[in-house]
Order: sequence, then structure tokens, then C-alpha cells
Amino acid sequence: MMIKKKLKNKFPSELRMDLVSNDWVIIATGRGRRPESFAREKREKEKASSKDCPFCKEDNIKEKVARRDKKDGSWFVIAIPNKYPALSSGRQLTERKEGPNRIMNGFGYHEVIITADHQRPLALFSQKEVEMVIDLYQARYLDLIKKRYIKYISIFHNHGKSAGASVAHPHSQLIAAPVIDPDLRGSLDGAESFYQSQGKCVYCAMLEWELKDGQRIIYQNDKFVVLCPFASQVAFEVRVYPKKHQPYFEKMTEDEKWLFADALGKALNKIYKGLDNPAHNFYIHTAPAGGGDYNHYHWHLNILPKTATWAGFELGAGIEISTIEPEKAAEFLRKAK
Ligand SMILES: [Zn+2]
Ligand SMILES: [Zn+2]
Repeated sequence: MMIKKKLKNKFPSELRMDLVSNDWVIIATGRGRRPESFAREKREKEKASSKDCPFCKEDNIKEKVARRDKKDGSWFVIAIPNKYPALSSGRQLTERKEGPNRIMNGFGYHEVIITADHQRPLALFSQKEVEMVIDLYQARYLDLIKKRYIKYISIFHNHGKSAGASVAHPHSQLIAAPVIDPDLRGSLDGAESFYQSQGKCVYCAMLEWELKDGQRIIYQNDKFVVLCPFASQVAFEVRVYPKKHQPYFEKMTEDEKWLFADALGKALNKIYKGLDNPAHNFYIHTAPAGGGDYNHYHWHLNILPKTATWAGFELGAGIEISTIEPEKAAEFLRKAK
């Protein structure tokens, strides 16, 4: 129904195909909304208070840090086990069948990575501060990757209630699982079939063209590029890619981490300023843990601002409708300061 309506107006929509997943998305600009109109209409004035915050109240954090680091207990960012884990490591990994269905127990690890300040989101961090967070992502990743059964580690960040953050205090999460998530599986398969037919990495091919074309580039430094993907899944989707081919996030060098912090910080800050601190999710897609040849893959970070709610069409058809052209979104974010 949504589509019919959109097609009648004078802003024709278009279908774009994602090179990797081969999924189609719909860019339907509808009433030709101005980029400014995506900013939240009403600011949520009340900042969820720190008084009842479980992370601020986590008073033994200070003790834990003091014991571990043998310092005074002051900390900027810390990883702790999730109190309500989606997966937990208490048991062995077991698998059974029920009729045609396979069932595994919920084996894995679920950690929360918290920054100390209740009020300050990552979007307002300095480059050094973003780097400290990335450092911890990498350290926890490298630790969990060694654990038995672990096949994939997902690192993600939810900001704002509508993006699924149940606690307002800035935090990221890390889930180490014995299976590869289906979304990543789709990307891995897409990247592999492109590699087999074209003999090169699909992401490298895409980046080469994007850097030449320039329309969707928001920011770049020597090693990273921030852009709105050609087939954006949602309005103002932003991705951060290493320019050099690299399947594994965890193999980033100190030098690369510093420039990744610059690129990620800029991306988040431009979304914060341009769209007035919208709720958003970001996650890292990296080649799976524990061996396997994933040289066709190219790790990256996806940021999905929440400027609309999924409706029946998106959920039912699995084709997403993005209401602004990625070129316009990039131009707008490029200028946001
Ligand atoms: Zn707090
Ligand atoms: Zn590549």
C-alpha cells in the first residue's frame, strides 16, 4: 500500500540492489522531505536520570577495577558480564533434535561495555576516548575468541529507547555465540560469490568506485572512509570501512585503531548534530572467529539511525523503504558540524 502511494507522486521511487546481499531496497523520497526534517521532532528533554541507573549504581565496579588494575579504581570504560545474559557459559554446548528441528542450548558469553559518564554519548567523545572504547572492544574480542565453541562475536551499540537501549547510560554489548548470525552469513555468502565470479573483494570494488564518484562519501582519512551506502537500508544509514582490504576487525593495528576512532567519532558526531541526537544502532561485521578462509570478506561498521519505524511492508516483504536518497543524506551529513 505504501508503495502504491509513493509511486503516484512526482518523486519517483527506485529499487537499488545491494551488491553484497543481492537484496533490494526501495528509495522512496515521497514528499521530497528535506534532510533537516529527519531530526527528531520533539527533543526528549528529560535525560533519563542517573539516580536509578543500574550502571551508575554498580558500586562494586570501582572495587573490581581497583582489584584488577591495582589502581585507585578510577575508570573510563569497563567490560562486565551482562546481568541478564542472552547466552551464558555455565554449561557445555549441547545439541539435540526435535523432529526436523535442531536445538542448541544457549551457550556463549554476553558482556556489557560501559563508559563512566552517564550523560555523554559516544558521539561527543574525543578521538582519544573513542579509541579507548575500541581498544576494549578489541581486547574483549581477542579474549573471547579463544574460548571453546565460539564461532562468532557480535559487538553492537544501542542508543536511545526506540533503538532498543533499555538502559540510558551509554553502553555497548558483546555477544560471543556458537553460531554465525544469519545477517552476517548472508554478507559472507554474497561476498564469496562475488569473489568467485569477479576475482576480487566486493567491498574493495565498491569502495574504489565510491571514492571516485564521491557523492556518498561523508568523511575520510588515510585509512578509513565513512559513507552512505548506495543501497542504504534505512534513511541516513552510514558505514565505516577500512580502505585497505582486511577481513578481521580484531587485527587492527594501533595506528589503524587511532584512525578508526577518528572516522567513527566523526560519523557519530555528524549524525548527532545533523539529526539532533537520534536513536541509533551500530554494529561491527567482521569475518567469523576460529579459522576458515574468509579472505573474500572486508570488515566494517554499520550505523543505522532510527528515523522511522518498520511497518508491515518492510517486515513482510523484507524490502526496506528508505525515504531519502543516500546521495542527499551524505551531502547533508558531510556538512553537519
Ligand atoms: Zn548511569
Ligand atoms: Zn576488500
